[in-house]
Amino acid sequence: MNTTYDKLFIGGEWRAPLSTNRIDVTSASTEEAIGSVPEASEADVDAAVSAARAAFDDPAGWAHWSPDRRADAIEELATQLEIRAEEMARRVSAQNGMPITISSQLEGGFPLVVLRYYAGLLRSSSFEVEQPHIMGGTTVVRREPIGVVSAIAPWNYPQTLASFKHAPALAAGCTLVIKPSPETVLDAFLFAEAVAATSIPAGVVNVVPGGRDIGAYLVGHPDIDKVAFTGSTAAGRQIATLCGQLLRPVTLELGGKSAAIVLDDANLDLSVMGERLFESLLVNNGQTCYLGTRILAPDSRYDEVVDTLATFMSSLPVGDALDPGTMIGPMASRAHRDRVEGFIAKGKSDGARLIVGGGRPDRDKGWFVQPTLFAEVDNSSTIAQQEIFGPVLSVIRYSDTDDAVRIANDSDYGLGGTVWTSDPERGRSVARRVRTGTIGINRYMPDPGAPFGGVKDSGIGRELGPQSMDSYLVYKSIYA
Ligand code: NAD
Repeated sequence: MNTTYDKLFIGGEWRAPLSTNRIDVTSASTEEAIGSVPEASEADVDAAVSAARAAFDDPAGWAHWSPDRRADAIEELATQLEIRAEEMARRVSAQNGMPITISSQLEGGFPLVVLRYYAGLLRSSSFEVEQPHIMGGTTVVRREPIGVVSAIAPWNYPQTLASFKHAPALAAGCTLVIKPSPETVLDAFLFAEAVAATSIPAGVVNVVPGGRDIGAYLVGHPDIDKVAFTGSTAAGRQIATLCGQLLRPVTLELGGKSAAIVLDDANLDLSVMGERLFESLLVNNGQTCYLGTRILAPDSRYDEVVDTLATFMSSLPVGDALDPGTMIGPMASRAHRDRVEGFIAKGKSDGARLIVGGGRPDRDKGWFVQPTLFAEVDNSSTIAQQEIFGPVLSVIRYSDTDDAVRIANDSDYGLGGTVWTSDPERGRSVARRVRTGTIGINRYMPDPGAPFGGVKDSGIGRELGPQSMDSYLVYKSIYA
């Protein structure tokens, strides 16, 4: 595989870039060069924002199309992505190491679900209501598209997380400039090809690949009306600072360090629960923001929880992300692998008990780390407090349910979480006590129809659900 592009998708056409800089893409599994694309310069971002602005300001344009017509075009985009789903999954897996079985479902499939959900929501939404004015007369309350959106995505689920932004923004009638992460650009060009094959007007969607400098330039561009960002908490703080100065609305989906609370009545039979545990603790090689990487286990079943997870983690096939038998692929980059290894070393030096893994699997190439399990982890230690973003789990002991809830909430983050129990009602009552934006009972799977996001250092605002489309709309009251 060597996928090369020479032009950027700006203003509905493939344009020669305004600089000669390029982004070279390397396979996380083989370390081989797999593609190259132009890197957007500030001048390219200016052109993209100006195209998005012109498309938004067009009096007969996208923002003014009827909801049904916009929904039709959004559904066309879903269809065009469906046609490219297999290639999309392959590109994502080759770049960031996501096992192909997972990228086929998520990167190839989830954006279609999200787009179709918003197309349906759009068809059933009303953007103008008339109500009595409390002082007499009538008030018309309108919801209007917020304008030009800058959407910045990370490398871990590049297409899914981009769809969390472009689908509700398009439904709302906004136009977009999307900046993918430099690690995952090849999928963004395939996405642009899908957009080009629809009736979505020129300039409504633009793609500017680049790193953090070009991201910061895009966030601060004077013609941007809203910023939607998914990425690290550190970058989120910088973006929030800039948006604060500019009084620019911003949605931030940031890091996590979620708790998986195993109650004393949990079913730990791996033949029943294995797949669910995998989805909520380890999916995408641990490179997933909401994973329950702090496993809270009751004293009464502590050893059993550790033994079960040790058996489970040792059984997961580690390999090339494009091999359908692989459950754990490599880290997305060498720098990220080094970072994960740094956390493993810190766990050992801080006195946690290494149960499984801790090193590199026996492979010549690729940025692999072994699935790693630590026991007797103190919740205040670095590996329990900081986001590792790799296949590294920590088992933390608790005495009773109040203690479990206290430990779960003793985190700077609040994005995901799970409760494992044989009693769903008990699960819900514990879930209600955890300070987090989302939480699952005996499973974890984001629902496109319900708000997704975090509290505390995990972010501001919500994606998915009607709430997300609302965040791309502004209210206007007309006192008629
Ligand atoms: P990152 O913050 O380094 O980069 C994310 C994106 O932002 C990239 O496109 C990057 O180029 C850009 N960027 C970085 N600094 C910027 C700045 N100052 N201004 C504008 N753009 C900037 O994160 P990453 O390493 O690519 O992704 C991993 C992180 O993303 C993890 O912390 C993870 O938890 C988080 N994440 C969160 C969610 C969520 O929904 N909450 C989902 C997935 C990933």
